[in-house]
Amino acid sequence: MMRGAFDDVPLTELFPLLTPADVDSLHQAAGTVDTARAGRATADWEWAPEHAAFPGARLGAPTVLGLDVIEHAEGGDQLEFLLRVVWTAPGRLAVDAVVNVACWCETDHATHDVDALRLVVGEETSLPEAFRAGAELLTGWLADPHDADHWRAKAGLPSRRTG
Ligand SMILES: [Zn+2]
Repeated sequence: MMRGAFDDVPLTELFPLLTPADVDSLHQAAGTVDTARAGRATADWEWAPEHAAFPGARLGAPTVLGLDVIEHAEGGDQLEFLLRVVWTAPGRLAVDAVVNVACWCETDHATHDVDALRLVVGEETSLPEAFRAGAELLTGWLADPHDADHWRAKAGLPSRRTG
């Protein structure tokens, strides 16, 4: 994985079919996310040039490009918002927007994806369209982040144990 600002992402290397207008569109969408996460101590954008071509299914859904915004991580608790462009199959990209929280179940699952949207890129949805939709979801979450228990309650998961 490479890390850096969105301006550093080699978009046409990762996604060779992008037009210049597509590249502009991705930059605009990423800009809204970068603005929404301003002031938070979050990591950079990450990308994997070795995943520009489908690397095989053994990796699950390999990430080509992504961002992990850590909203909260202390006292063993965790709340993260993620935006990822992934491969779901050969020739089939998707954009995932995910809320990830620490698990407080009786059985420890480590973390849960409590609110996840997968937008598959295809004839009806272009990569820039899917990316923009994912970015809008992420900026919405960042504008109104709640705490991890809110997201766990929404998903019917146990709250953080206190005391
Ligand atoms: Zn759990």
